[in-house]
This record gives sequence, structure tokens and C-alpha cells, in this order.
Amino acid sequence: MPKILIVEDEEKLARFVELELTHEGYEVDKAFDGRTGLEKLESGGYDLALLDIMLPGLNGLEVLRRARRTVDTPVIMLTARDTVMDKVTGLDMGAEDYMTKPFEIEELLARIRVALRKSEKRAPETKLLAAGALRMDVDRHTVCYGDAPVELTQREFALLQALLENKGIVLSRATLLERVWGYDYMGETNVVDVYVRYLRGKIDDAYDVRLIQTVRGVGYVIREQ
Ligand code: CA
Repeated sequence: MPKILIVEDEEKLARFVELELTHEGYEVDKAFDGRTGLEKLESGGYDLALLDIMLPGLNGLEVLRRARRTVDTPVIMLTARDTVMDKVTGLDMGAEDYMTKPFEIEELLARIRVALRKSEKRAPETKLLAAGALRMDVDRHTVCYGDAPVELTQREFALLQALLENKGIVLSRATLLERVWGYDYMGETNVVDVYVRYLRGKIDDAYDVRLIQTVRGVGYVIREQ
């Protein structure tokens, strides 16, 4: 489910909105001041943020301005001040929408749905990778075979991602080593083979398929059957 960040110093209001959003099935996180809100926003991982303008520490417009340097999470501004100036400034700085307090929760929910739908359309398709029944959602960091989740370690995930991003293209051990372990990796070079074995155990052997294939003397490739 989409994850929403609420940045709002009126804790009662924040908790009320959290309750409503949770009830709708959203995952919710909260911050009660501008700095914490900015940190959380910059850390990524949110599908949308509700951002109050009058906040202690750092005001909402400043949080938005700074966050926009690194993340493009859709933001709906919240404020008690119904001034044209705030609205224009917020939208100019890249806010998706604007709500004046007090608001009807139903209206907020509707606007959240619209903002999420818009950002879904914008999202690049490369976030979802697939080969046969194997699917990887890079942003959500999940892998499934059919409907069954496949549990992978960070390294296994990175290796599978490299293979899926280059589906049908043979990647050498050196290339995989560089992509997944980094240039400065000093360990054994057969680590690629070891991790390919782990992946095969969890995918090919588990589902009786041959997606991850060895090309002798060259490297590995993922192919749809
Ligand atoms: Ca406030």
C-alpha cells in the first residue's frame, strides 16, 4: 500500500489524519516539526507527503524547497492560513496540491487519491522488472515468483536486479562483480558464482525453471523461457 508521511505540529490533527489514512489502508509515518519532516522526506520511500506550512524549526515551504533538491515525492500542503501568497508559493515550489484547514477528511482523501494516481502515471516503467513469472519491484524492494514472495538478501537482490535490467544480455563475472560488489571489492572473484547459486536455489530450483543461465567462459544471463 502507498506510504504517506504527515508533517504536522498539531499532534491531535496529525493523529486524526493518521487514523483515517490507516483505516483507508495506507501506511503512515508522522513528523511533528520541520526538520524531522525534511529528514524523513529526504530519506525517500514515501509515495506522498502532507506538509503543514506553519511548523516549528523549519516552515513547510522551506521543507518543500529543500526536499525538492533530492526527492520528487508528491506533496499536499496543509495550512490554516488561507492566503493566496502561500498557495502560489507552495505550488510554485512544486507542491502537488493545497488544503486549507479546517478541511473535510473526505476531501483530503479524494485529493490524496488524485495525487497518487498522477504520480503513478509519471513513474518510469523501469521500476518493475520481470522475466517470466519472476517480478521485481525495485522501489519497494520486493521479488515475487507468480504470487509467492521470494526472500532475498541485499546482495542477492542487487545481483538479480543487474541481471533483470539486462535481460537477454550476457554479463561477465567482472561486470557483475563491479555492479554488485563495487570496484574496490578485494575478496574472492568466485563470489559471483556463489551468489548465482543462492539465487538459483531460491528461484530456478524452487520453481523448477531455468531463468538464470550460465554462458560458459563468458558469464551469466537471465532469459525468459
Ligand atoms: Ca501548524
